[in-house]
Amino acid sequence: MANSKYEYVRLFEQPDNLLPETWIVVRIDGRGFHKLSDKYKFEKPNDRRALDLMNAAAVSVMKDLPDLIIAYGVSDEYSFVFHPNCQLFERRSAKLVTTIVSTFTASYVCQWPIFFPDKPLDLSSLPTFDGRAVQYPNAKILRDYMSWRQVDCHINNLYNTTFWSLVLKGGMSNVEAEKELQGTVSSDKNEILFSRFGINYNNEAEIYKKGSVVYRQYQLEDQFSATTASLTQAAESQPSGELSKTQQEKMRKLRRKAQVVVEHVDIIKDDFWQRRPWLLS
Ligand code: ATP
Ligand code: ATP
Ligand code: MG
Ligand code: MG
Ligand code: MG
Ligand code: MG
Repeated sequence: MANSKYEYVRLFEQPDNLLPETWIVVRIDGRGFHKLSDKYKFEKPNDRRALDLMNAAAVSVMKDLPDLIIAYGVSDEYSFVFHPNCQLFERRSAKLVTTIVSTFTASYVCQWPIFFPDKPLDLSSLPTFDGRAVQYPNAKILRDYMSWRQVDCHINNLYNTTFWSLVLKGGMSNVEAEKELQGTVSSDKNEILFSRFGINYNNEAEIYKKGSVVYRQYQLEDQFSATTASLTQAAESQPSGELSKTQQEKMRKLRRKAQVVVEHVDIIKDDFWQRRPWLLS
């Protein structure tokens, strides 16, 4: 390596490695999508094509990064979850976040014409995303994080569905609809939807009510648990309790082979996690 008198500037770089043994969640969010959804005339309250595009981009990210366990998306945001034993980029926060944000954005922009063939992207209004990494010390708190996002999805969707019914079907202005909904609770909104517009909120599409969960489905579930069990044993026998490079590579290969699926299901109750024990193991 050539040394120059300028080398010392390296010392100004601060380490940003995330804590070992913690779940890492990288949440990305569309920048100014309120405006962007106006510009490209997304359907209100939910443009299905925009959600499908978000999900397609999330699948690309999951396929590109086998260290990811699961992802959850709603509106213009997506949360990507790395396993506690992930060693990608030595767990450096900036590397993880920027890789996810740019992989997601590249895929989103590249696949835009598939989902919006009639709306070419305008160079002056390109979709972009910001991102951050947060660490969660155990599986319970990680699940609470996921539940928090899904509850948010439900609350926002019920509000938005009622708001846009008042505007689009009830002929109210945005300001009038907002006033009408001030101080209302869930049951009031359900009642407005049903009595004024004949909408039973329960019958709304699952993707709108529950958001989207993306994860690896193993055809060879038994093979996966056998491999995980042997790897866990191997890790426990090591002084550091960490997987060796070869073991990590083995795990990655297994993950790479798995099929990535998108579902719109409840992730708050235990059922989802109990049926897919490999996710939190
Ligand atoms: P910021 O840059 O701070 O995130 P933002 O305008 O993106 O600002 P958000 O709180 O992220 O604000 O909200 C995203 C907005 O994008 C929603 O409120 C909604 O108006 C719009 N949006 C996102 N996805 C869809 C969709 N599938 N259909 C219709 N509108 C959508
Ligand atoms: P990492 O993911 O760790 O950054 P990398 O393969 O991107 O790995 P870099 O150290 O960033 O490694 O080096 C970028 C490499 O990309 C260069 O070594 C060179 O081989 C190639 N490259 C970049 N720009 C050009 C270019 N304009 N013309 C030819 N080769 C290029
Ligand atoms: Mg934001
Ligand atoms: Mg946003
Ligand atoms: Mg958002
Ligand atoms: Mg490079």
